[in-house]
Amino acid sequence: MTDRYTQAVNSGFTKTLAKKLGLPRPAILRRYRAGDPLTVGPVLVLSDGASKGDADALAQALLGWDLDVRRQPTDDVRWGAVVLVLTEAAAPTDVAETVLAAGSVLRRLAGNGRVVTVSRAPADGDSPALAATRNGVDGFLRSVAKELRAGATGNGVVLTDGAGVDSTSALATLRFFLSARSAYVDGQLLRVGPTDATTGSETTGRRPLEGEVAVVTGAARGIGASIAKVLARDGATVVCVDVPAAGEALAATANAVGGTALQLDVTTDDAGERILAHARERHGRLDVVVHNAGITRDKLLANMKSAQWDSVVAVNLAAQLRINETLLAAGIEGLRIVSLASTSGIAGNKGQTNYGFSKAGVIGHTRATAGLLASSGGAANAVAPGFIETEMTSRIPFATREVARRLPTLAQGGRPVDVAEAIAFLASPAAAGVNGQVLRVCGQHLVGQ
Ligand code: NAD
Repeated sequence: MTDRYTQAVNSGFTKTLAKKLGLPRPAILRRYRAGDPLTVGPVLVLSDGASKGDADALAQALLGWDLDVRRQPTDDVRWGAVVLVLTEAAAPTDVAETVLAAGSVLRRLAGNGRVVTVSRAPADGDSPALAATRNGVDGFLRSVAKELRAGATGNGVVLTDGAGVDSTSALATLRFFLSARSAYVDGQLLRVGPTDATTGSETTGRRPLEGEVAVVTGAARGIGASIAKVLARDGATVVCVDVPAAGEALAATANAVGGTALQLDVTTDDAGERILAHARERHGRLDVVVHNAGITRDKLLANMKSAQWDSVVAVNLAAQLRINETLLAAGIEGLRIVSLASTSGIAGNKGQTNYGFSKAGVIGHTRATAGLLASSGGAANAVAPGFIETEMTSRIPFATREVARRLPTLAQGGRPVDVAEAIAFLASPAAAGVNGQVLRVCGQHLVGQ
């Protein structure tokens, strides 16, 4: 699945040639494999003076994950990750020492290493200096991520509403960013609020979705099939949904993950009722719904036919809204909904007014639904993939496709599994404090914000 150019510049004679010619050399990204270490080397935890208490608590938690945790930069280490704790920084001058200390070790950050900031979101009532400092971390993180090489990434945990640095969801988010599961997530800041969740499943060996039932729409192929596999790996029983025409491939996915298949067009009026009935009758419960089914019908707006507009909005947006209405009315405790948006819904894309509308609509309903689910311990989030190597993107003309691949900081397309890993993280009970967020899986593509 690695594109040919990336393969060529990472092996044999063509690697040497590419080096000599100074050609861009996208890295082979490290993906999750059971049994591999969490990070590729020791983790350096740095902080400004006021945030030292938080850094101590975080370092303690990292030690609990069997990581080699250091508190001082040294020259003799190939670092697996640098974590900058800036939670209590209150004035712009507070952060200089910490970020420059991080800078002093970046040359020794290992390939596929990680830089993670942990900070607080600006809040109503913040003084201008405090708000400036907190917002400044965003610009710092997005910029340093663009300076990293060899598959290393930079992401940020942004605490809201007084969430503790060592709260369940903050630690789960930090763990995701440190791990190989976030291989294609780069330059992202994820807001994490407080939560009552007390699961430590990632460290106790219990699989995070053990005993839970998850529904994945559009599961016959592509990203959906990958989501079904990763959720099953994480312990879920998966209900795989797709149109009857994809029945054979759907059955293959369901068999591969030991789940069940439900042939259903998500645009049918009673799709929500049928999903709920299938999950309850066959598996006794429903915990996670992943709205992945999606289509494109690209046309410039000047040439757009109503069928092209209507079908994209019906599958990508209206179906999700209708199904969610049914699920919300059912009052399911702790329900987690993850919906597929797209960077086209954030930055726009020529020829995709219909798709862009539908995907921005997904982001809109996700934010609105988050509040409705929070009181019952649930959450709604969206994942916005950038360029992912699937059948959908293989139809893009060669030259456009090659440009799209090289634009992100990681200079390559992502894999379906990269999107699936992000979804599995957001679907996990430990991520309950992440609610109403959009997580981009785009290798830090230039578009949007
Ligand atoms: P894909 O075309 O390979 O697979 C989509 C699946 O959805 C197919 O199995 C299809 O049969 C199913 N589906 C379509 N309409 C349906 C309906 N009415 N009811 C039930 N199932 C239906 O697409 P993909 O590339 O795997 O994309 C999956 C999701 O990710 C989509 O929502 C897409 O918009 C989004 N996405 C993909 C990319 C990318 O680069 N591939 C980028 C951003 C977002």
